[in-house]
Amino acid sequence: MQTSPEVLTRLNSDIDRDAGKAQDFFVKMLRINAVNPRMGGPGETDRADFIQTFLKSEGFDVQRMDAPDSEYKHRVRPNLSVRLDGEERERTLWFLAHMDTVPEGNAELWRSDPFEPKIEDGKIYARGAEDNGQSLVSCLFALKELKRLGERLPFNVGAWFVADEEAGSNYGVKYLLEHASFRPEDLIMVPDAGSPSGTDIEIAEKNLLWLKVITKGKQVHASRPMKGRNAHRLGMELALSLDENLHRQYPKRNELFDEPTSTFEPTKVDPNVPNVNTIPGVDTFYFDCRVLPDYSLDSVLSDVESSLEDFRSKHSADVSLEIVQRDDAGSATSPDSEVARLAEKSIVRMTKKKPRFVGIGLRTVGNFFRVRGIPTAVWSTVDNVPHEPNEYSRIASLISDTKVFAAIPLLAGSP
Ligand SMILES: [Zn+2]
Repeated sequence: MQTSPEVLTRLNSDIDRDAGKAQDFFVKMLRINAVNPRMGGPGETDRADFIQTFLKSEGFDVQRMDAPDSEYKHRVRPNLSVRLDGEERERTLWFLAHMDTVPEGNAELWRSDPFEPKIEDGKIYARGAEDNGQSLVSCLFALKELKRLGERLPFNVGAWFVADEEAGSNYGVKYLLEHASFRPEDLIMVPDAGSPSGTDIEIAEKNLLWLKVITKGKQVHASRPMKGRNAHRLGMELALSLDENLHRQYPKRNELFDEPTSTFEPTKVDPNVPNVNTIPGVDTFYFDCRVLPDYSLDSVLSDVESSLEDFRSKHSADVSLEIVQRDDAGSATSPDSEVARLAEKSIVRMTKKKPRFVGIGLRTVGNFFRVRGIPTAVWSTVDNVPHEPNEYSRIASLISDTKVFAAIPLLAGSP
């Protein structure tokens, strides 16, 4: 199947002509507060209803797969999907975007109302404008334009607009992976990370591991250290030796990643004593580890355990380890996979830019698909201001990303 250049030109001008409509829809959607209910917000329900109504008015048959959530006032969390049928019915290119947002944070830091979008200098300012509103609207309009274009599609093209990404995806993507039918042959696009230039196609993520280490000593008055055991000193020593060991044991570089090594960072410490003149009896520190997919977290954990064991026997200290979070990375999506190649081709054709493939230390829902062996590309054009005050989306990126998404299926089969 080959799409003629005229079709792409027509698609391009259709999307330009509808730019005002897309912007209008975007503004109305951002006005509907969809802060995740686990973060004190009203949740996605009203926003989902608004999106569903719009899709229906555009002639789409909207499927809903609501996830039961007994803690939520509406009892279910909405997930919406639409699909255009292609020649090959067994395979679908799925776009995935999330409807929920984080709260506005400190309201004084906003120059405008986070739930009343403000347009200035080609940008739309509102909570959720970048994360993930822009891409949701781009995917939605890409489908709408493909539908109107009426060209034959090589495979199905669909979108899922999901709940709960900001609080772990239990009622969104994780639920869908149990109940909806994704197939290993599907092509998954997750536009929930990206770069300002729009040239970074993310195909790999690091393993994620959060550790908590508790060291116990004996609390006494600071004037008599000999009577006690300073857990803070022991903890500091342990943190430094762990830091050194991990960096020495996991030195590999992988140039796909912007940060090409595994990272092991001591981050949080729990408060110990409230006053200066007491020697703390307990010390608690945490490590944030982002490990290249070249290594397994099992081996990292067993090395951490043996470092702790060495420390215990050397100092006869009481040390324990807790895993706060563990999220293994799926294997990287190949740059030669169809989804990666088509994304690359579409970016070149529609934006005249030369993309590159990258890995990131962040976690996106793309990893849930990679873990299941489904090739997944993560791409969008964003200035990377998610969760910040005065979060915004560039209208030009909204429109050009729509073009890239819409052209992807039309470029299958072309050289
Ligand atoms: Zn997001």
